[in-house]
Amino acid sequence: MEGSTAAAIIPSTKGSKQLRACLLCSLIQHPLDFRKYGCPNCEEVMQMKNSGDRVTVCTTTHFDGVISVIDPEKSWVAKWQRTSKYVRGMYAIRVRGRIPEDVEHALDNRGIRYRPRDQNEQE
Ligand SMILES: [Zn+2]
Repeated sequence: MEGSTAAAIIPSTKGSKQLRACLLCSLIQHPLDFRKYGCPNCEEVMQMKNSGDRVTVCTTTHFDGVISVIDPEKSWVAKWQRTSKYVRGMYAIRVRGRIPEDVEHALDNRGIRYRPRDQNEQE
């Protein structure tokens, strides 16, 4: 735990094609930030820090819609996304892809049920 304010770096819209969304919480960040800091919401299970490979499998460039969660406690979006505990930042509305199996197991071990965001889509 470091610092009391957990906030994601809000990426600029410039070069947004390079941005990646976390497959678990849909947070959008620059891949370099994922690699440098991990995902501020799910680093505990994703373990992307310092691993480009993990970033590649745990995040995706295939996401639609961007919402910004300014106040995760109050935002209706946060409620709808069930992200009340998430850091403020930019989130994708829909993310295509699936978290790696080991992450799913890690969540399982914590009693968290993974809800894929792409269940209505066929690749
Ligand atoms: Zn995440």
